[in-house]
Amino acid sequence: MKFETRALHTGIEIDEATGASSVPIYQASTFHQASFDESPQFDYARSGNPTRQAVERAIAELEGAARGFAFASGMAAITSVFLLFETGSHIVAGEDIYGGTFRALTRIFSRLGIEVSFVDATDLAQIEAAIRPNTKAIYVETPSNPKLAITDLKGVAQLAHQHHLLSIVDNTFMSPYLQRPHELGFDIVVHSATKFLGGHSDVIAGVATVRDEQLGNDLYLIQNGFGAVLGPQDCFLLLRGLKTLPVRMRQSQAGAMAVAEYLSTHSAVSRVYYPGLAEHPGKALHDRQAHGPGAVLSFELKGQDEVRRLVEHMKLPLFAVSLGAVESILSYPVKMSHASMPAEQRARRGITDGLLRLSVGLEDPDDLILDLSHALSFCRG
Ligand SMILES: *Cc1c(COP(=O)(O)O)cnc(C)c1O
Repeated sequence: MKFETRALHTGIEIDEATGASSVPIYQASTFHQASFDESPQFDYARSGNPTRQAVERAIAELEGAARGFAFASGMAAITSVFLLFETGSHIVAGEDIYGGTFRALTRIFSRLGIEVSFVDATDLAQIEAAIRPNTKAIYVETPSNPKLAITDLKGVAQLAHQHHLLSIVDNTFMSPYLQRPHELGFDIVVHSATKFLGGHSDVIAGVATVRDEQLGNDLYLIQNGFGAVLGPQDCFLLLRGLKTLPVRMRQSQAGAMAVAEYLSTHSAVSRVYYPGLAEHPGKALHDRQAHGPGAVLSFELKGQDEVRRLVEHMKLPLFAVSLGAVESILSYPVKMSHASMPAEQRARRGITDGLLRLSVGLEDPDDLILDLSHALSFCRG
């Protein structure tokens, strides 16, 4: 079946007990056991809950994974995956990864004796050069945030395989509708399900999927033992979000393409970063490994004064942290996602005072462009 159909017919979409058209919110912490002789399907809800099981099966199905796991946030999913590694392990990570992941690695896992080297992941040679005898994993994100740089997923998976390392990718920006890294050889896929998977700016959630059963057992030990599980109400919201993922993604992507094309012709905009534009340096690679450029783009204005004017005059988008929602979300990396990064590092990575990120929602693109064109008329080129 095609992705759109599978998003609705996961095999567990109907409540087995009643035939209800959606999986109920099983708001229970424990389950009655008829006898102590047989092990029940569910005993305690940290270990398993029917609503969580439904969303875990759905995301595994959509990513093409052996198993899926739902966590209390994207960071809970990512840090639970890092708990697979022992003291003395080393991870090679892309330098453009999500700020919270950077913080977890450099300020929390460093204390547990897990080392990390950051490299430009768009260059496979740099990844390979950073591999040491104690390296256990390669961790990447593509397209990256906020400049939408592209990493060669197949290349990274092959490199990891050659050196007997786990390959891990944060697939938040694409969602499985547009990019399925397990099909390209990745062992573990993580998501902030707060973004496109949930899709409505109303739930904090995370998921991880794994390519093989053994890794699934290892991660289940951590999910159950560490306990950062997703509650049943949030599992329900995520299940509901997944049903419309393909249509939301398609509409948002069409809007992003129209907005990116508009911005790239505007005299007040010096650069647009979007893998759907012909001038994007990673476009050919992205087109080989993904089914579309997605709904997030960045663009550069002259400086902070212009950003202030644009933000003051735009009416439609939320001006906020986050992305991947039904409404468009405009964010300012220098003051939001990358505020904790030292200024000279930001400058080296081209995250300037004029850079804005836009996650395009489901609004009619004509209205977004009208809103942008009005606000840009207050900005100097
Ligand atoms: C938001 C985000 C995260 C963190 O997820 P939370 O749900 O906020 O914990 C991780 N990776 C990426 C790419 C994100 O955008």
